[in-house]
Amino acid sequence: MAKKKKGLVVVNTGNGKGKTTAALGVVFRAWGRGMRVRVFQFLKHTGSRFGESRAAEKLGIPWSALGDGFTWLSKDLERTAALAREQWEHVQAAIRDDEHDVIVLDEFTYPLHYGWIPVEDVLAVLRDKPHMLHVVITGRNAPEALVEFADLVTEMREVKHPYKEQGIGAQPGLEF
Ligand code: ATP
Ligand code: MG
Repeated sequence: MAKKKKGLVVVNTGNGKGKTTAALGVVFRAWGRGMRVRVFQFLKHTGSRFGESRAAEKLGIPWSALGDGFTWLSKDLERTAALAREQWEHVQAAIRDDEHDVIVLDEFTYPLHYGWIPVEDVLAVLRDKPHMLHVVITGRNAPEALVEFADLVTEMREVKHPYKEQGIGAQPGLEF
């Protein structure tokens, strides 16, 4: 096969744990190489202080979380959707600026899955992205069209989770 080099569209999906942490592993690696990395989190509370955002702050990795902590029980879905659309505007600007090597769109599959942002719009932007830019997208229920379009897709499969088996909740360091 001819040697090719291009930035990849990566999707971490599925119901098992590890989608976001795998994306953060890429951030860590790329940062270590002096690559220009940027993270956009969807849905997670604006200003949430998870371990990863604290680390990003210490390392000087630009990080934006814009959301209201959406769950399927959220009362004001219109607001959740509006925040996701607003964040998507920021993402498009960052892709256009062509000043990054890796951009992570954490939990981005949900706004697509729920129809808040049209998948076709996203694919159009990804199609035109800077050639060497890697874009990593995480979240359950990745739309089929995105999976089709992406270069690298991994589905995390749950084998066991301590919440289900033992009722053990999320633990600092391991989950947030
Ligand atoms: P992580 O951020 O730990 O890599 P993730 O991104 O794969 O997890 P999400 O769907 O974003 O998973 O959910 C985040 C939270 O939900 C984590 O605290 C995680 O432990 C928990 N979680 C993930 N998968 C499961 C599961 N199969 N059952 C119960 N809880 C889960
Ligand atoms: Mg996640």
